[in-house]
Amino acid sequence: MKLEEKVNLKKYNTFGISAIAGGLIHVYDENDVFEVLTSSLSPIRILGGGSNVLFTGDIDGFILRNEIKGIAVIDEDESQVLVKVGAGEKWHQLVMWSLSHNLAGLENLSLIPGSVGAAPMQNIGAYGVEQESVFHSLNAIHLESGIRRVFFKDECHFGYRESVFKNTLKDQYFITHVTYVLRKKDYTLYTGYGAIGEVLQRRAVTQPTIHDISKAVIEIRTSKLPDPEVVGNAGSFFKNPVVPLEAFKKLQTQYADVPSYPVSDTEVKVPAGWLIEKAGYKGMVRGEIGVHAHQALVLVNYGGGSGGEIYKLALEISDAVAQKFEIQISPEVNIW
Ligand code: FAD
Ligand code: NAP
Repeated sequence: MKLEEKVNLKKYNTFGISAIAGGLIHVYDENDVFEVLTSSLSPIRILGGGSNVLFTGDIDGFILRNEIKGIAVIDEDESQVLVKVGAGEKWHQLVMWSLSHNLAGLENLSLIPGSVGAAPMQNIGAYGVEQESVFHSLNAIHLESGIRRVFFKDECHFGYRESVFKNTLKDQYFITHVTYVLRKKDYTLYTGYGAIGEVLQRRAVTQPTIHDISKAVIEIRTSKLPDPEVVGNAGSFFKNPVVPLEAFKKLQTQYADVPSYPVSDTEVKVPAGWLIEKAGYKGMVRGEIGVHAHQALVLVNYGGGSGGEIYKLALEISDAVAQKFEIQISPEVNIW
């Protein structure tokens, strides 16, 4: 392990927010984690790629920066493989690894920033696929007792941008490895979501492969989403609200063009980006921060913004949406 004291976390979060942590501890394997847990270094918090956190001030205590690496096939048969991945691997690197081995399941999740260890935290999802669809199990260490535990899929309580680790077990476990089941054959491709179909059509791809889908997703994402290297952001700041069908029908009488996607017979998902845009916030700039001009779900830091300012703007936006539509939107980003 490597300990740095009094570290500015600016380069460790994609919002590019300055926040001083008491210490930053880089951990490279499970032994490093145990060493920290049995030391006097506390309190500790866990950080991966910092692409889903907002620091609203300096951080008391120590940050464990997960750098546990490795991608290993631990079992396989003629149709699938079990791949155990160090939680500090970059998610997109794992996707690229799977494609280079012609393994299906992760292609729609191309170009999502962050680490593999954080993927189960909010059950990352994009273009109609969530990581739970290929999730097998994860290895974790209980921060208080130091006890190792394996979590299988049904114990993770995955939901839409949710898991047990964001709720009842919040901040209790350090995820060290995640194991995925990837398919060699007999898999379904998801091309019906967002602009994937249009891109494939434009490229005259009639029988898409996992490689075509990944390329399409990368093209769409690169054209639509702000690159954190250029402008600070943490992707979607809010989750899309799921509302009862009755409430949605009432909303539709006032706003005939309100988009929605069915979730069940009784509920629909309403894109939060649309609600924020209609509340008048799309593209707004306030000093050094604002709301992205092409995707109102993304709050941005143009350089010198503070986490406190972004958090205040987020509260203002959710209040405005609640007032206008009687729908409560809540942050997807972890507020520290
Ligand atoms: P961090 O931000 O470092 O941490 C997030 C949370 O997980 C924190 O609470 C942290 O304590 C906890 N955590 C991290 N690692 C561990 C661990 N090993 N053990 C225990 N707890 C841990 N998300 C999507 O779902 N879909 C998208 O399409 C998507 N697109 C994005 C696009 C952009 C441009 C950006 C900036 C973000 C996007 N995100 C998306 C959000 C983000 O990339 C994901 O949530 C990602 O999984 C966060 O990974 P991270 O390593 O950066 O986590
Ligand atoms: P988009 O395609 O413009 O769609 C806008 C919203 O409508 C999305 O939030 C998506 O919900 C929903 N949607 C679109 N088509 C849908 C369908 N066929 N069925 C159900 N819901 C549908 O969105 P975008 O901003 O370009 O993002 C594309 C994908 O990448 C989305 O899946 C999005 O979640 C993901 N993404 C996530 C983040 C993040 O930080 N979490 C950041 C960027 C992109 P869902 O969000 O529920 O899919």
